[in-house]
Amino acid sequence: MNVLTQIESPRVAETAICSQAVLAGDGWMHELLPGQVLRIVDLEGNQAADTLFFYTLNSEDHYSAVATITTQGNIYLTTGSVLRAESGKPLLKIIADTCGRHDTVGGSCSAQSNTVRYAHEKLHMHNCRDTFMLQLAKSGKNFSKRDLAPNINFFMNVPVTAEGGLKFDDGLSAPGRYVEMLSLTHTTVLLSNCPQLNNPCNAYNPTPVQVLIWNK
Ligand SMILES: [Zn+2]
Repeated sequence: MNVLTQIESPRVAETAICSQAVLAGDGWMHELLPGQVLRIVDLEGNQAADTLFFYTLNSEDHYSAVATITTQGNIYLTTGSVLRAESGKPLLKIIADTCGRHDTVGGSCSAQSNTVRYAHEKLHMHNCRDTFMLQLAKSGKNFSKRDLAPNINFFMNVPVTAEGGLKFDDGLSAPGRYVEMLSLTHTTVLLSNCPQLNNPCNAYNPTPVQVLIWNK
């Protein structure tokens, strides 16, 4: 097993210009300015914060897992990772990370994936895609289903097996661990604090996360 690197931030919560809890199952959408820093805190541990990013000035240029992975040559995200858009444009850079492992391969949960992964009777259950769509609709902007692109699952542990498969595994995060990223441009953040009740990653118990923003 790899030893994960944990890098702490010098920022203190008292100087943040925004600090807000996002309850389990809730969503949060926000436009970051260039130079602003966003921290997501896993308040109780082993929660998944499913997150999409868009270049605010052209939202069709959304976060790309493929561009991010191929450019950095690594499938996991941690300090130093540059999160790129479809065009290759750098949107954000992870500058601190006390968890050390974030997934961008597993995708967000949906009614459809709930039926495939768990059971057909899970179809009706609240899922991240529902939360994303609700936040996009409330934004009043011209977003639609086609804007649900590949995402990041912050704090989620999805190891790739020796055979090349994906494994949804026990989380590696813990109460109070956080990831912090610097917005390199105008970046819209769309977060779904995963409501999933069927996945061992969060011990079948979704919990709140805290979002904080600093002017650099
Ligand atoms: Zn989810």
